[in-house]
Amino acid sequence: MEHRTNPYDEGDIIPTPMSGEHREREEPLASTSRSRATQSARDAAARRAANARAGSGTKQGSARQRRPQRRNPNDRPELSVQNTIRRRRKIGIGVIVGSIVTAILLLTALLFWINRPVPITVNGQQAEVRIGSTLREVLHETDVSVEPGNYVTVSGNVIQANQGRAFNAVVNGNRLTPEQIEDLRIQGTEAIEFSDGDDIIEEFNASSESIEPYLRMEGSGYSLQYVSQWARMGERQYRTGKVSGETAEVITVEPRDCIITCRDLYLEPGDDGVKYVALTFDDGPSDVNTPQYLDILDRYGVKATFYNLGENTQAFPELARDVIARGHQLCNHTMAHNQLTAVDSQTIYNEITTSADVIAQTTGVQTTHIRPPYGDFTERSWLASGGSITAAVRWTGDSQDWRYTGLNDTETVQTIVDNSLLNIHSGSIILMHDGGGGGAQDIAALPKLIERLQADGYTFVTISDLMRQAGDIPEEVCSGTSTMPQDAVWPKEIHPDDIAAAAASST
Ligand SMILES: [Zn+2]
Repeated sequence: MEHRTNPYDEGDIIPTPMSGEHREREEPLASTSRSRATQSARDAAARRAANARAGSGTKQGSARQRRPQRRNPNDRPELSVQNTIRRRRKIGIGVIVGSIVTAILLLTALLFWINRPVPITVNGQQAEVRIGSTLREVLHETDVSVEPGNYVTVSGNVIQANQGRAFNAVVNGNRLTPEQIEDLRIQGTEAIEFSDGDDIIEEFNASSESIEPYLRMEGSGYSLQYVSQWARMGERQYRTGKVSGETAEVITVEPRDCIITCRDLYLEPGDDGVKYVALTFDDGPSDVNTPQYLDILDRYGVKATFYNLGENTQAFPELARDVIARGHQLCNHTMAHNQLTAVDSQTIYNEITTSADVIAQTTGVQTTHIRPPYGDFTERSWLASGGSITAAVRWTGDSQDWRYTGLNDTETVQTIVDNSLLNIHSGSIILMHDGGGGGAQDIAALPKLIERLQADGYTFVTISDLMRQAGDIPEEVCSGTSTMPQDAVWPKEIHPDDIAAAAASST
């Protein structure tokens, strides 16, 4: 009975006194024992026979045949259940052990993944560091040598050496702030440039003042002057160190000068050989000439640019509107045709802005392109314009039509055409007049000039489109309708170098 309740019995051989194996192991015993064993075996046989009789005949025969053999534990239902329990326990233990091993493997893999090495570039050299590393760790592991900054006074004297920033870092082209240096964690593939650390300046009291930008002129071309850079105020700080008591003057914002670029346009003909030229007409509108000019331009499908006087625009508002309605560009030729180099700054400003306002009120076009009367416009004129214009447009070819008012003989007409074509190239600006000196001579010359230029592969464009063809002039300047940006300032002085150069060239 005990073996049935012993959970640890492996039980292929049933260790009962009734088994044949047991009997065989008893054989070598002394005769007394043997006879006791024989008797015991007999009793057991008798009990088994009785048990067998109580069971079925088949079972009886089967049990008898198998008695001396190793028994299949499944042959007996109670043993089968018992062994199933044992097997399940074994499987259970196996599953637990397997799970623990799997968990350990997964954890190991996870730890490796979290701490995996990734490639980076440090000061131009390839390196591998643990993902998530700080920049300090990268610096330590890659043996890059940098010097820390110092703790310094407002004027740069060292208070404590090596107590400044430990290093500077540029990551993927961006210079990091001290906070960004602390926060950055390596993700892999970063390009890092370490350099010596900045000084840390002592605490200080400060007062500030603005630094005015200058007006500067660059280039030597005659036909176009335009704003290529708007000015910005700078700032200067006067600092007094709280630790050292030293004082220092520091420029905290560099001023940015306003730059006027002077140039002529030489445009490369396109793949189709197209060349560009701008026809321009000054001093209008004129009720005598302008309508006839507009009809000629329409007949040839030509777009041109008209520089109107404010006074004439007031006199003939319908003509100014007609210029725009027919697709031409309308710009400013000042109010009353004053020579701007001969008047004071306030007059310059008024001549430009009053006329621009008249044109805006009459046509709705707020032009910031001017043509200065007589082409006279200097750096001083620009300074006086006060940021009211973006371009001053002169010319490359002067028809000198005003010399021949009312003369439309063949020779005069040919002279006007020849004058206009002088030094002609893609990017040329031709000067004629519809007001003032314009008239019959232009009405005769204009068709000949247009036909000649069209035959030579020229396309007629407005000044804005001609400037756009250059490809490097800001659109706000090309358009001729944009005003100074809100964050810009207009300078109050010409750059000292330009004043010195002007003085040198006039002597
Ligand atoms: Zn004029």
